[in-house]
Amino acid sequence: MKIAILSQDASLYSTRRLREAGEKQGHEMRVINYLRCYMNITSHKPGVMYQGKPLENLDAVIPRIGASRTFYGTAVVRQFEVMSVFSVNESQAISRSRDKLRCLQILARKGIGLPVTGFAHATQDIDGLIDIVGGAPLVIKLLEGTQGIGVVLAETEQAAKSVIEAFRGLDANILVQEFIKEAGGADLRCFVVGDKVVASMKRQGAEGEFRSNLHRGGQAEKIKLTPEERSTAIRSAKAMGLRVAGVDLLRSNHGPVVMEVNSSPGLEGIEKATGVDVAGKVIDFIAKNASSSKNRDRIQ
Ligand code: ADP
Ligand code: GLU
Repeated sequence: MKIAILSQDASLYSTRRLREAGEKQGHEMRVINYLRCYMNITSHKPGVMYQGKPLENLDAVIPRIGASRTFYGTAVVRQFEVMSVFSVNESQAISRSRDKLRCLQILARKGIGLPVTGFAHATQDIDGLIDIVGGAPLVIKLLEGTQGIGVVLAETEQAAKSVIEAFRGLDANILVQEFIKEAGGADLRCFVVGDKVVASMKRQGAEGEFRSNLHRGGQAEKIKLTPEERSTAIRSAKAMGLRVAGVDLLRSNHGPVVMEVNSSPGLEGIEKATGVDVAGKVIDFIAKNASSSKNRDRIQ
């Protein structure tokens, strides 16, 4: 098969591994910088151009769209969909996953466990918002944050009010969440491919840090999930319409709760922590699904 990885940088670990895994299985792999793709959107001859030439005869694309490039990246993925090229994750599912609030609302609708979460527009409603999550300590999150930046733990209601007022003063959108203390600064990353969790790791925050992000100095180790955690991760990816997803869970007193569903989950942390050939699993999935007719001709 001819498979393109849509990535801004061929030297990134995840991009390199996907390419290697595809080549190992005998596929023709190509890394395409989606920011340099331009397109003809007419219906009689839809196409994507790259370096002056049309991209033709692709069987599948693997989108690795950066969070800050969602608009253009999903437009490119959508164009491949118009051309009936199989995309591991569909453009619409990628856009959906980039909005934390929307993501939580979709999961709530499916009855998936979530931290108690509040959202409000006006600062006059802060007291009500704090009540929803059961008072301090609580977690405040910038809707647009990634890698743990913009996630704040407020120990007291006074601190919570000040932080919320400061963020709202900058016109930033924020979520307020119950603090899952019992998670002990750790979360679980479940890597879902199709209807399976192919690898899972526990990330533990640095000493004194409640955020477990590896970018914030966290450490990762392989972990065995409970059946409930496994099914929560699979149902979450499914609810979001993602075939490949990184689902982040916290172990709470009321069972596993989902924090986030990532549509371009990194491979480096999880492959190194678990020893699983996650890239190979993604390629296997494409080989099995790209040519089946049910995934073709779905234009949105
Ligand atoms: P980001 O998308 O920036 O990584 P997250 O929402 O995943 O932000 O939060 C970063 C980290 O903070 C999580 O991995 C988790 O360890 C910790 N965390 C987030 N929300 C909570 C919460 N409600 N209770 C306890 N810890 C939390
Ligand atoms: N974007 C980061 C990476 O590729 C990690 C994203 C994630 O999986 O949370 O390493």
